[in-house]
Amino acid sequence: MDITTFNPPVRTLMGPGPSDVYPRILEAMSRPTIGHLDPLFVGLMEEMKALLQYAFQTESALTMPVSAPGSAGMETCFVNLVEPGDKVIVCQNGVFGGRMKENVERCGGIPVMVEDEWGKAVDPQKLEDALKANSDAKIVAFVQAETSTGAQSDVKRLVELSHQYDCLTIVDAVTSLGGTPIKVDEWQIDAIYSGTQKCLSCTPGISPVSFNERTQEKIRDRKTKVQSWFLDLNLVMGYWGSGAKRAYHHTAPVNALYALHEALLILKEEGLENAWKRHQDNHLALRAGLEAMGLTFIVAENDRLPQLNAVSVPDGVDDAEVRSRLLNQYNLEIGAGLGVLAGKVWRIGLMGHASRAENILLCISALEAVLSDMGAPINTGVAVSAMHKALSR
Ligand SMILES: *Cc1c(COP(=O)(O)O)cnc(C)c1O
Repeated sequence: MDITTFNPPVRTLMGPGPSDVYPRILEAMSRPTIGHLDPLFVGLMEEMKALLQYAFQTESALTMPVSAPGSAGMETCFVNLVEPGDKVIVCQNGVFGGRMKENVERCGGIPVMVEDEWGKAVDPQKLEDALKANSDAKIVAFVQAETSTGAQSDVKRLVELSHQYDCLTIVDAVTSLGGTPIKVDEWQIDAIYSGTQKCLSCTPGISPVSFNERTQEKIRDRKTKVQSWFLDLNLVMGYWGSGAKRAYHHTAPVNALYALHEALLILKEEGLENAWKRHQDNHLALRAGLEAMGLTFIVAENDRLPQLNAVSVPDGVDDAEVRSRLLNQYNLEIGAGLGVLAGKVWRIGLMGHASRAENILLCISALEAVLSDMGAPINTGVAVSAMHKALSR
């Protein structure tokens, strides 16, 4: 085997994540590594907390980056909040709700599933029925932005309902943070986790999380030890909690945290509201182009995520062939369908830095070229102008 330096091509990343990384972030990552207990690094982490609090719209002191990808943020919420025998209502409308169920089971909890069709938002009525039927439930968990389908659920409403029935809430905001509104304090979300590689447009591998006072109390009052040493927040609070001395817990991924600091700074410079609006405007432009071509969205208009656009693969078209041509001829990555949607949909991401006009133009024109070359039944010659018209609105 002749092994040399790995030199990846420059791709345009318009799948379900990772998304295009801001050049400023890659540059930040290449700065000199310093010790994770170096006073300068501790200062950086103080800023990180403030930046994460801004992104999540919370004042909670337990707002921090977990040193592992979004899945570890999910696990942090479940292993700390679920004790053996606890009943947890999990709303599932795609892939990630299924992983929440796995997490509950592995913590010794009892999952109660509230299922909605893939491509639909979580139905608040079904949640309320489950809350009524399970008065001993302690936690409700659901995904705000289901990346597997492109559907978004009404967090504010679902949290309100859960609190009416005395349940704490765990919210998956991996794909929503930085792309669609999240207001942790205003909506009274109890525990939330996200990821770096979706709408923050940072490199993958870190998971921002935030826990409010009620959840911190529950964690302190646990009867059993958290079964994960690494993710046990009782230990991490020693490093991160207010007034805590910076004791060694694990070696922080120093350069990855430079990257996240830069990503959050970019978000703050743009402003949350502006970022949310940019995602929405660009979604409408992509949509105009795709619909002009004759492609159709699988999610109802009011429940669509601007940052994840799931469209049906036209009849008779080989889904994998299209994606491989886009990748090989245009260096453009779009996502395949997952689970029950495998082979049936494409998932086009407009996340973070990937949500910009030139990407939409590339996606629309490359998709049209590939589909028409393959003899797919689409309208040609109209999509790009429909997109431009929507952009100039
Ligand atoms: C991507 C994603 C995850 C998992 O994040 P990883 O960083 O891949 O571990 C969890 N939930 C949702 C909704 C996601 O989109």
